[in-house]
Amino acid sequence: MSNWIVVFEAANSLEAHTLKGALESRGMAVQLKGEALSGALGELPMDVARVTLLVQANDWQQAREFIQGYQQQGGRSWRCRQCGEENDASFEVCWQCGSGPEGPER
Ligand SMILES: [Zn+2]
Repeated sequence: MSNWIVVFEAANSLEAHTLKGALESRGMAVQLKGEALSGALGELPMDVARVTLLVQANDWQQAREFIQGYQQQGGRSWRCRQCGEENDASFEVCWQCGSGPEGPER
């Protein structure tokens, strides 16, 4: 079941790939849309094209929160996926239950 939803429109390909890598490292599947266009034009530099990031519907909220944090350069807080507690950006693990922002290691 693939239900892709637009979560962010990156200003350029580099930003799109940075976010894609970061989201994927958190276990989310990411698709980029818009790159094919710039590729088809051949000579245009990659970064002129706006690239849309899509994630699975059930990852959307987490992806959105991550991107908002990214845009604030470090962000102010993150929500624990394990217990839902809001944590300050300076905490690397949840103060409530001790799990990281990505949840428990698998
Ligand atoms: Zn927690």
